[in-house]
Amino acid sequence: VKLELINTGTELMLGFVTNTNHQWLCRELTQAGYVVSRQVAVPDSAPEIQQAIREALTRVPIVVTTGGLGPTSDDLTRQAIAQLFGRALREDAAVVAHIDRFFRDRGRTMPPQTRVQALVPEGALVLPNSNGTAPGLAMELGAAEGEGAKLLVMLPGPPRELEPMFVDQALPLLRARYPNPASFACRTLRSVGIGESLVEAAIAGPLQALVAAGLEIGYCARIGEVDVRLSARGATATGLVADAEQIVLSLIGKHIFGADRAELHGAVIQALAARGETLAVAESCTGGYLAHRLTNVPGASEVFLGGWITYSNRAKQEFLGVKPETLAAHGAVSEAVAREMAEGARERMKASYALAITGIAGPAGGGPDKPVGTVYLGLASSKATRVLHQVNRYDRESFKFVTSQQALELLRRRLVS
Ligand code: ATP
Ligand code: MG
Repeated sequence: VKLELINTGTELMLGFVTNTNHQWLCRELTQAGYVVSRQVAVPDSAPEIQQAIREALTRVPIVVTTGGLGPTSDDLTRQAIAQLFGRALREDAAVVAHIDRFFRDRGRTMPPQTRVQALVPEGALVLPNSNGTAPGLAMELGAAEGEGAKLLVMLPGPPRELEPMFVDQALPLLRARYPNPASFACRTLRSVGIGESLVEAAIAGPLQALVAAGLEIGYCARIGEVDVRLSARGATATGLVADAEQIVLSLIGKHIFGADRAELHGAVIQALAARGETLAVAESCTGGYLAHRLTNVPGASEVFLGGWITYSNRAKQEFLGVKPETLAAHGAVSEAVAREMAEGARERMKASYALAITGIAGPAGGGPDKPVGTVYLGLASSKATRVLHQVNRYDRESFKFVTSQQALELLRRRLVS
């Protein structure tokens, strides 16, 4: 089934906001078996929005819009669509109650102008917004309004509102209304600790027979991760992808931390929870980024006890018990200090494990024996302490990501092996 995507927002036309909704939705829709046959972005202008929708409906049975459902004067999608199809806007009491509760839960009173978000075009279905105030909308269009019955889905602009709404509500609706005829199967296996060319060298040969039968393989290398995308279309799609997955797991399974939407920090929290174990962290150059990632996982509190950001030598001594002699003899960025940080954190937090990170993010601060990017990662457990040495040469933000990735992987390997 084909569909078209219309992203609205003058900020997109001005280049102030990257159209991540386009990328995210195309990926999700394709994964679900739909074919996105066209995508346009239009400014916050009712005639532009209406024209884009009118044109799209001449080509495809499903149109998805994003943005412009909010309360401000530049949020025009709801009104533009109601006007285009001659549908009256009616206030929905349940949405008013949701908006009111949304503000009350945050100790604020509902600003009167936010009430417009409760206006629903006649006949439209409300997609409640659990992460914001403006609901999404879905409208069946009769034959009179387009050629044949069609479906128009309106999603909010902010990604953190749009994404859960799409997964929990819009996609089930699409599936019910337009079951996937192309039978698209896709599985993305997510790997860490192995470069993309090594991944390909390991799996391409053994997958050749399946490729001949219609399997497609895609590699997506990102900083610190490589995704292997296995996909196929048609009646045998599911079997092909399942067989391919088994082969990949048998070859590089220890590097695969999850599939599809899985994240390494989520995999670590899950593995700890399954074992009933706990974690503490002691971070220097990642400045809390590791703790940030861990606490992005719902339910992290069951296993993540806490940590320290010990940026200075004084903090490392005072909060983790790193010895002044160790600092003097080896320097703060050293195997010995990573070890003492990890052990100190584990003891003080009474955790099953502690991860410690000390390194030189750069751009300055390197030396001949410890170049910029030098990192020591410590993992303390009841049995032993392991220290891993890496050199991560990146900008400071990517450095934090890669380093936290290595720390998480150090622990994950310990937990799953
Ligand atoms: P709000 O209630 O927040 O106004 P809305 O549904 O009216 O939501 P917009 O006003 O269009 O949505 O966009 C709100 C914000 O969401 C934008 O400022 C931008 O930060 C983000 N956003 C909107 N569209 C996109 C997009 N296509 N890609 C990424 N971010 C977007
Ligand atoms: Mg808005």
